[in-house]
Amino acid sequence: MRQFQTKIKLTRYLNIYRKKSSIGLVPTMGALHSGHLALIKAAKEKCDIVVCSIFVNPMQFNNKEDFINYPNSINKDLEKLRTLNCDIVYTPKINDIYVQGEKVKEFNFGPLAENMEGKFRPGHFNGMATIVEKLFNIILPTQAFFGEKDLQQLQVVKALVQKMGSPIEIVSITTYREKNGLAKSSRNKRLSKKAKKKASIIYNCLNYCVQNKHKDIVNLKLYIQNTFKSQKSCKLEYAEIVNIENMVPINKWGAKNKNAICIAAHIEGVRLIDNIIL
Ligand code: AMP
Repeated sequence: MRQFQTKIKLTRYLNIYRKKSSIGLVPTMGALHSGHLALIKAAKEKCDIVVCSIFVNPMQFNNKEDFINYPNSINKDLEKLRTLNCDIVYTPKINDIYVQGEKVKEFNFGPLAENMEGKFRPGHFNGMATIVEKLFNIILPTQAFFGEKDLQQLQVVKALVQKMGSPIEIVSITTYREKNGLAKSSRNKRLSKKAKKKASIIYNCLNYCVQNKHKDIVNLKLYIQNTFKSQKSCKLEYAEIVNIENMVPINKWGAKNKNAICIAAHIEGVRLIDNIIL
C-alpha cells in the first residue's frame, strides 16, 4: 500500500494508471471499523485501484467539541487497510486541502439538505460537499463508495455528482452493525460499555418501525418519542420517516423501499445517527 500526504504526489502517481484502470475512492474520516472496511472490500471487488482517503474535515463540523473529540487511530487504520490490500491511502494535512482562510462552498441542494442533519447541523452538508468535491477533483475516481448509514449524505453526494456534471458512479453499501444492532460508527469509541448497551434503543426503535409498517407514521413517531422519554441519558434529537428520493418527512407511506426511518439521538452526550430503508 502506498501512502500519499500531498495531492501533487498522489495525482502524479494516479495519472500513470488512469487510462487503463478503474479507480475507486472510499472517503473516510478515519477510526476505521468494519463498515469502512466493507466499503474498501466493495471497492476492491469493483475497481482496479482503490484509494482510501482519511481526513477529518473541520468544515463539516458545526460543533467544535465534536471535531476536537473525533477519534484518531491512524496507525491502526493503516494496518487495517494494509491487511485488505488497499492500494493507496491519502492522508492529507489541512493545508493540502484548503488554502488559508478558505470558506466553505455554498451549494444549494434544496429540500435534500433541509431536514434532519441539514436542520440540526447547520452548514454540515455544505462542508461535507466542499471536501467531497475536492476529493473527486483530485482523485477523479471512476466510482466512489458511501455507506447507507449516512443516508442523507449519500443522497446529497449523488446530487453533488449531478451538479458537477461528473461521470463518477456512486456505489452504496448497507449498514454494518454491532451484535445489539447499534450501527458501527467511529463515534462509538467514545461510548462507555454501559452507553453502548443503552444505544441499542436506536436500532430497537428503527426495528419497531420495520415490524409495524402497517401502522400510521404519526403513531410510530409517537412510539419512538415515548420510548426515549422513558430512558435516562438517551435524548432523541429527531425521528423522521422520509421519502428517500428527496429526504423530506412524509405522513403517508410511499412505495416499498422508497421510505426510510431516520433517527438522531444523544447517548450519554455522544451524537449518533442511524436509519433503515423500508
Ligand atoms: P466517516 O468516516 O464516518 O465519514 O464514514 C466514511 C464512510 O463510511 C461513509 O460513506 C459512511 O456512510 C460509511 N459508514 C460509516 N459507518 C458505516 C456503517 N456502520 N456501515 C456502513 N458504512 C458506514
